[in-house]
Amino acid sequence: MLLAGNEHIKSLTRSMIQKGREPHSLMITGEHGLGRKTAAKYIASAMLCERGDGVPCERCRTCRMIKDGIHPDFMTLKPNDNGNYPVEEIREVVADAVVAPNEGRLKIYLIPDFDRSKITGEQVQNILLKLIEEPPDHVVMILTADSREVFLPTILSRTVCLSVAPCTGEECAQYIGSLEKYDYGEIASASQSLGGNIGSCIEYLEKGAIYTATENARAIADSLLRGDEYELLKALTDCDSKKGQLRLTLTQLSLVARDSAVSTVGGELISCAKNAAKELGARYGKTRSDKLYRLINEYISRLDRNCSKTLVINSLCACMANV
Ligand SMILES: [Zn+2]
Repeated sequence: MLLAGNEHIKSLTRSMIQKGREPHSLMITGEHGLGRKTAAKYIASAMLCERGDGVPCERCRTCRMIKDGIHPDFMTLKPNDNGNYPVEEIREVVADAVVAPNEGRLKIYLIPDFDRSKITGEQVQNILLKLIEEPPDHVVMILTADSREVFLPTILSRTVCLSVAPCTGEECAQYIGSLEKYDYGEIASASQSLGGNIGSCIEYLEKGAIYTATENARAIADSLLRGDEYELLKALTDCDSKKGQLRLTLTQLSLVARDSAVSTVGGELISCAKNAAKELGARYGKTRSDKLYRLINEYISRLDRNCSKTLVINSLCACMANV
């Protein structure tokens, strides 16, 4: 299975191809881990597949080459180490686009994580604009991003925008199970912690940053329950080790606070620490839980505004202890 869930993307792709109305430019948005690049690969496979019915067969030479990342007409650009797309590289794409495809009827360029290109973003869009406005018949451009916010209206108006959606927990577990790499118990624990976000679940199973973030968020929730300010500060300081780790932990923690509020009205819980969230909800009630949720999100935006991590940790710790 190439792409789990996301039936809306599959059916739109199929109908566009069957009607011979493939767009020349597409944008796929959605949060990290939901499979934006996988969706792009799915669409590219569907467009180039030798069977040609709008659904990738996953067996023909073309589908296999796209899966392995070696098809000469499906090119994925990579940002530099700072997350930016060098302007020269985009100019090369524009120049290359006029050349006919090597094998298939289309030439597809994928530019992933476009919105991380902070410095060159607007410049790059202006260079791409000409290609998007007057594309050669054989060119398809696929951009992926967290959201549409950074894009010029002139680009958006000529682009088909799709968003990837989380799968159900069951679809997620089934997809990861089909990789035959992980133990079923571990898969269940990952999808219980992170819901249907396949990318995050795999990162969790690989004991990556998201795994550490959920462990830290659980430790912080436990120390809040015990009312132990020293433990709270220690748990927060522990997640300061790597860049981005604190933000990731606070994001998981904000879901715990959300669950704490939701548990007081009997709603569905989604965080990595559902039991702790229920206990917090019972103790804090709805108003204090809401306050905790808003507080954590306020500190996440402080981190995004580049406030010092040490100050964020100390101040958040004091505020959380007094919610
Ligand atoms: Zn195929």
